[in-house]
Amino acid sequence: MTHPTRRAIFGSLGMGLNAFAADLAPAGNTYVDPRKVLLWESTRKEFREAIEGGALKALIVPTGSTEQHNEHLAMINDTASVTLVAQQAALLLYPAVMVATPVSVGISPHWMDRKGTLSLKKETFLAVVFDICESLRAHGVKRILVLNGHGGNVAPLRESVPEFARKLGIRIETNSYWDAYTPEIIKRHMQSGKAPGHAGEFETSFAMAAFPERIHWEGVDYARIKPLLHINDPASAAQEEEFAREAKLASTAKGEAMIGIAVKWTAERLRQLILA
Ligand SMILES: [Zn+2]
Repeated sequence: MTHPTRRAIFGSLGMGLNAFAADLAPAGNTYVDPRKVLLWESTRKEFREAIEGGALKALIVPTGSTEQHNEHLAMINDTASVTLVAQQAALLLYPAVMVATPVSVGISPHWMDRKGTLSLKKETFLAVVFDICESLRAHGVKRILVLNGHGGNVAPLRESVPEFARKLGIRIETNSYWDAYTPEIIKRHMQSGKAPGHAGEFETSFAMAAFPERIHWEGVDYARIKPLLHINDPASAAQEEEFAREAKLASTAKGEAMIGIAVKWTAERLRQLILA
C-alpha cells in the first residue's frame, strides 16, 4: 500500500481540509515500513520519486559519536540514540521527512584518555556535516534539521549551522534531541535529576528501552573496575564514578518515557521547519 491510500483515508475522515496539513498529519497507528524513512536504505528511485513528487519536504541529518560510554554501554550509543529518535520522528511525519546517513564520529577529545574513543577535529566534523547538507541541496532538499546526539558537537553546530544555511541558501537548523527535556520533565522522570549526562541514568534507561543488547551490566560494578582504569583528570574520574552509580537507577520504563518525549518534540520541531 502506498501513501496516497493513507492520504485518502485522512481525507475521508475529514482531516484533510488543507491538503498540505494532511501531508503532515502524523502517521499515528498506520503502519509504515521503518526502512522507508531512511535515505541509506532507499533506492535512488524511491528517493527521486519522493523529492520530485513533492512528498518529501525535509531531511534529518543525525550527528552522534563513537566514544567510550563507561564500562557498560556501547561506543555507538549516541549515534544509535539520535538515529532512533530521528527515525521515529520521521515515521510520525511520513512521507514528509527522511533521515540521512548519520555522522557516527563526533568531537570527543575529552574522552581520549579512555580506550576506544574516536574523535574528529572540529573542522573535520563540521566539514562532513556541511558536505552532507550540500549533497542534499544538490538533490533538491530545501529544509534540513541537523539533529544532534552528542554533547561535544553542540557548540560547534550551533555556531556553524546558521552559516551553512546562508552559504547553501536553504533552511538548515540544529537541535540536540534532549532539547526536548525541560527541567520539569527531567525532574519527573530522572531520579538523578540529570539528562542527558553520560552513561548515567538517562542514557542507560534509553539503551534499556531501545537496544538492551548493547548493555553490559557487569560493567556497572565500578568499584571492581576502578583500579584498571588510567584516567588522568581527577574531576573527570569523579564524574565518571557518579554516572556509574546513577546508571543503577535506570529502567526500561524511564527510557520509553524519555524516548517518547524526544520523538514527539522532534516531530513538532520538523513540522515547524516544514511549515515555516
Ligand atoms: Zn552518550
